[in-house]
Amino acid sequence: MKYAVVIINIKGLGVKTFSYSIPDEMANIIRAGQAVLVPFGRQGLVNAFIVGFSDYIPDGIKVKKINRILDETPLFSIKYLKLLEWVANYYCTDFVTVLNASIPLKLIEKNSKTEMSVKISPMGELLLKSDKTPKESGVTKRQYEILDKLSKCGKTSLIEFEEKSKTTRATMKKLEGMGLVAFDLEYIYRNPLTIFKDVPIEPLYELSELQEEIYQGIKQKMRSPNPILLHGVTASGKTEVYFKLIKDVIDSGKNVLFLAPEIALASQLTKRLAKKFGIKDVAIWHSSISDGEKYDVWQRLYKNEIKILAGARSAVFAPLQNIGLIIIDEEHEGAYKQTNPAPRYDARVIAKRLAQFHQAPLLLGSATPDISTYYYALNNNNLFQILKRYNNAPLAKPEVINMQEYGKASYRGIISKPLQTEITETVESGKQVILLMNRRGFSTYTQCKCCGTVIECPDCSIPMVWHSDGRKLKCHYCNKELSMPDYCPSCGSDALSNSGSGTQKIEILVKELFPEYRVERIDSDILTKKNAHIELLNKFQKGEIDILVGTQMIAKGLDNPNVTLVGVIIADTGFSVPDFRASERGFQLLTQVAGRAGRGEYNGKVLFQTYNPDYYAFQTAKTQDYEKFYETEIKARQEFDYPPFSQIIRVILSSVNNFRAEKSAMEIAMRLNIMTEKFGFGEYLETLGPTPCIIAKINGHYRYQILIKNKLSQKGHDFISKFFNKITLSKDIKLTIDVDPLDIL
Ligand code: ADP
Ligand code: ZN
Ligand code: ZN
Repeated sequence: MKYAVVIINIKGLGVKTFSYSIPDEMANIIRAGQAVLVPFGRQGLVNAFIVGFSDYIPDGIKVKKINRILDETPLFSIKYLKLLEWVANYYCTDFVTVLNASIPLKLIEKNSKTEMSVKISPMGELLLKSDKTPKESGVTKRQYEILDKLSKCGKTSLIEFEEKSKTTRATMKKLEGMGLVAFDLEYIYRNPLTIFKDVPIEPLYELSELQEEIYQGIKQKMRSPNPILLHGVTASGKTEVYFKLIKDVIDSGKNVLFLAPEIALASQLTKRLAKKFGIKDVAIWHSSISDGEKYDVWQRLYKNEIKILAGARSAVFAPLQNIGLIIIDEEHEGAYKQTNPAPRYDARVIAKRLAQFHQAPLLLGSATPDISTYYYALNNNNLFQILKRYNNAPLAKPEVINMQEYGKASYRGIISKPLQTEITETVESGKQVILLMNRRGFSTYTQCKCCGTVIECPDCSIPMVWHSDGRKLKCHYCNKELSMPDYCPSCGSDALSNSGSGTQKIEILVKELFPEYRVERIDSDILTKKNAHIELLNKFQKGEIDILVGTQMIAKGLDNPNVTLVGVIIADTGFSVPDFRASERGFQLLTQVAGRAGRGEYNGKVLFQTYNPDYYAFQTAKTQDYEKFYETEIKARQEFDYPPFSQIIRVILSSVNNFRAEKSAMEIAMRLNIMTEKFGFGEYLETLGPTPCIIAKINGHYRYQILIKNKLSQKGHDFISKFFNKITLSKDIKLTIDVDPLDIL
């Protein structure tokens, strides 16, 4: 091959591809995935990565030569690039967009990080061992302390040591001058797991009879090309089954990818893994580890130095080698899907592909499986179930509190008497409480009591939410912030009031009611501070918080045996959303949060406050009977051709100009209809719309959607991606394609 295709990270534009010619002397060593140096316009030599080769380039293009190969060890393989290409195809987006999402930018910007390390010298050791006082040895007391600390650390990063022992470079240089410490220039891996440094390794638990049976059953399926589903009620001991399987896989010399839906859960999981398998073999990967840490983990992964990688959805792109098992816990979670920006990928879909590449099994686990996952597992005979809690601990049965009855007697109409009583009893007996309020902020909307106007975001057609901590109205779609207006923008009256409630309000009310209890809040508003959520969860695990108020973030995966009461402030939120997944989501949320209660030896209580106690979907959630829920739900899906009976592809056309957005949506729908008829696909590729989206405007852009129900699997999918590949639109219209969308709002 004469030419190499490289990617370069251009400031402000992201990653782009370019061609360069390969000098003769490099021909034998050049490989995909290598870091190289190339001349690039006025910027001179820049870092690039080889992603492909070709013998020809289009006529008339002048190419420059690759200057140098920076590192002969590649950072990714051709196989890896093939996977990214597949992702781009599946999600109807381009390769470069996928590259941007999958390879950390820092990998491209800087190539290696060398850091100064420090250790105590033999002379320093002698000084510490002698019986002389610091003064007699010719050092100050402070210098003596530093030496003592350093001798306990062993070899360590100089910067880290300086930070930890609150000393300066000048002091350290002085000690070096005295021959008491030694500097060394070497590569030191940053390890994002350092927060878990002190965990001792524990043996795996002996499995219960039921767990053992499931474990053996799954072992028989390790060659299955289809995903395996472990449906186990909350606290049934799924994680312990995963651990046994992981042990087998790493003992056989292969590696394991383990995904959790959220960063907080991935961190908790990593801690559990490090406890069982040792910190050296485990790494963590998610969007909030620093670029430097990512770079290091990436290199260790590529060099096959890591056996278990735990992470959130983006970890599916990490270059873990030699995969022998992929586990996706809480597989029903929407967080596995990236909704914005493109690529709008679902980590479960990519994991399935990745598993096929490695001929490794994909194991999905959940107490409330995705309806489609359950359907396929059932039909492929790949379904395993544990319907009892470990040790036969009883599942907490939720009690329903009808707020129409209790509303008046409750605190501010929000916290009913029975809930108050249970909270007091629980905390007084030394146990802990979780309160779920699935909406962040203080109130849900701000309304004028005179004319009924609801204050909406000027750019999006949704109400703004009052946040009491920043004293601002916030738009949860575009993040715009406004201060509270003094007068109604419609009628000028000053009767604006906040209605509905969010986590901030619940936190305040609970603190008012129980001033002597320790109350904290977890929702995505606190995630802005790095590790804030981990710290709060740790505090909660240690029993330093009595009542934890939060959004769905606390409904997931939290395993704290001391929690015996779960209260859901408004259990009906979610069910009434106009979306085909609304009842599935509502059912999942309530079942999951109920599962946080009574996980240890103490029985749990769950209270659902609701204004609609008779609502059908709510009733099934109350009994937590998944199979019954599934049977009703799957019938409805079949009747309306929703997944798993079709694949949904959602197309949105948006523009600041309402008329133009609608017109282009109509044109595209018409062309699509003509094409599907022409190919005889009409019946199997159903096109719905265009209609204005339920959220008709976001960020000043009017939105129209076309929904495609594809009942032709791969063939239909290929047809659709080809169709949209050929579409060109004028610049003021934006086309968004979302394959397998999470919602259709
Ligand atoms: P799940 O993942 O299904 O929610 P976990 O694996 O977290 O359940 O198990 C729930 C609790 O029971 C945990 O505290 C776990 O340590 C404990 N547990 C599960 N299996 C065993 C076992 N075989 N021996 C001892 N403890 C177990
Ligand atoms: Zn008004
Ligand atoms: Zn907005």
